[in-house]
Amino acid sequence: MPDDALSTSSHQDWMRRADALVPELPTRHRVAGADADGSGGAFPVVSPRDGRTLALVADAGEKEVDLAVAAARRAFDTGPWPRLSPADRGRILLRIAALIEEHRSTLALTVTLENGKPISESYAIELRALANTFRWYGQLADKLTDTSPHTEPDTLALVTREPSGVVGAVVPWNFPLTLAAWKLAPALAAGCTVVLKPSELTPLSALMLGRIADEAGLPPGALNVVAGDGPTAGRALGRHPDVDVLTFTGSTAVGRHFLRHAADSNLKRVWLELGGKSPNIVLPDAPDLAAAAATAAWGVFFNQGEMCTAPSRLLVHDAVAEEVTAAVVERAGTLRVGDPLDPATQMGALAGTARVDSVQEHVRRGAEAGARLRAGGTRLEVVPGGSYFSPTVFDQVTPQMPLAREEIFGPVLAVLTFGSLDEAVTLANDTAYGLAAGLWTSDLSTAHTVARRLRAGTVWVNCYEEGDVTVPFGGYKQSGNGRDKSLHALEKYTELKTTWIQL
Ligand code: NAD
Repeated sequence: MPDDALSTSSHQDWMRRADALVPELPTRHRVAGADADGSGGAFPVVSPRDGRTLALVADAGEKEVDLAVAAARRAFDTGPWPRLSPADRGRILLRIAALIEEHRSTLALTVTLENGKPISESYAIELRALANTFRWYGQLADKLTDTSPHTEPDTLALVTREPSGVVGAVVPWNFPLTLAAWKLAPALAAGCTVVLKPSELTPLSALMLGRIADEAGLPPGALNVVAGDGPTAGRALGRHPDVDVLTFTGSTAVGRHFLRHAADSNLKRVWLELGGKSPNIVLPDAPDLAAAAATAAWGVFFNQGEMCTAPSRLLVHDAVAEEVTAAVVERAGTLRVGDPLDPATQMGALAGTARVDSVQEHVRRGAEAGARLRAGGTRLEVVPGGSYFSPTVFDQVTPQMPLAREEIFGPVLAVLTFGSLDEAVTLANDTAYGLAAGLWTSDLSTAHTVARRLRAGTVWVNCYEEGDVTVPFGGYKQSGNGRDKSLHALEKYTELKTTWIQL
């Protein structure tokens, strides 16, 4: 029965549901198809909505990571999962998608409580992407083919893809379920087994997902979920000799750790989806300047600005700079920052007090460096004890200022201006990152030539943050390597084998 709680639940309903859900939240690891306690202590998961402790979750140390990897290893080496027919694997992934839909409101509520994003977005965006991703890879599992190149007549060559083995997946808190699914679904579809380590800020929804996957019929050990912090549990996965592939989404700084961990251990494959400082270029011939400004504002404040792809550098042509900036500032001032449990809220809580402190510090340094604050810049008290910040816009930002260079990962926009197309492209590419870029123009040639010149994994023209599971997602330069989503994600979880037969 599809769950349509979003259209039928009020703010009060969600608050009541939250109170009922909190005592039921999972607190134990999920290993080999069962709940498992840790041998260490437990850590609190605190809701950024109001600062209340949601749960005390078992804290994975090296021992728990070892147990989870051993379960995944057994499941891969001798268990049924890699040996099932692709069609049977697909059927189980489709059952996971169906169960996700059945538990949609509980999962969405858990994400909102642990992460602070609006319930409307958890429900409509995060949960839709989660179910779609499992469904898409479930449907894909038995539609893949290998190749046989045309070689000499007395030979037969086969080029086949085989599952890579045990995958360690380490993910952040900003889309705790979607980003996990972008790794789990293709890895499982390929026949790999997985140990997932969610962020210590948002382990609850991932532990729930682990239970749902087992309930859907995934064989024990095919998916294990351990909760713990990065420097202990994340590091242990990164260094583990029995992990064949480490797939990571998070900051560029931590991505570097995983490359080192692989070099210091078994040279496991390391796939990195990292940070960004994406440019959004507005040319005077944009088809609709008001739409460009509205989308620029929506893009940078969506998910509280906690987006790797956030269009955090707005590059506007001198001729339209004030018109576009004023429209963005106006949007910033009218955005409904509110209780994440209120379906009318457009911007909820940042992921915790440390996030608010970090954003505040970026704002302070931005002003100190000489940028002009046009909107926001302050903490907000929305729900007592919560972590809220106002939508913030700076203009008069110059390319060398920290506001133009550092990933803030919060609701802060830096506006820079340019006078020529070449200058815009140079500014856009003047960054260590290369995750995404936006471009607004009515000219077809400009759209194509500029898109080619932008060093970014995704270029959006006359839109931003659009797409679906069919297209690859990932970064150039220090935004990472490899791609999530689409057929290309399977490349991360498969080894390519040549079999050459003398006939
Ligand atoms: P983070 O790098 O601090 O943490 C990500 C994960 O790594 C968490 O599970 C954490 O526990 C773990 N970790 C932290 N330190 C570790 C260590 N020393 N060893 C091993 N594991 C460790 O990132 P975050 O704060 O959770 O997320 C924000 C970052 O993620 C931003 O930089 C953002 O751009 C990036 N991000 C990238 C994408 C993408 O697809 N490219 C998507 C979302 C977020």
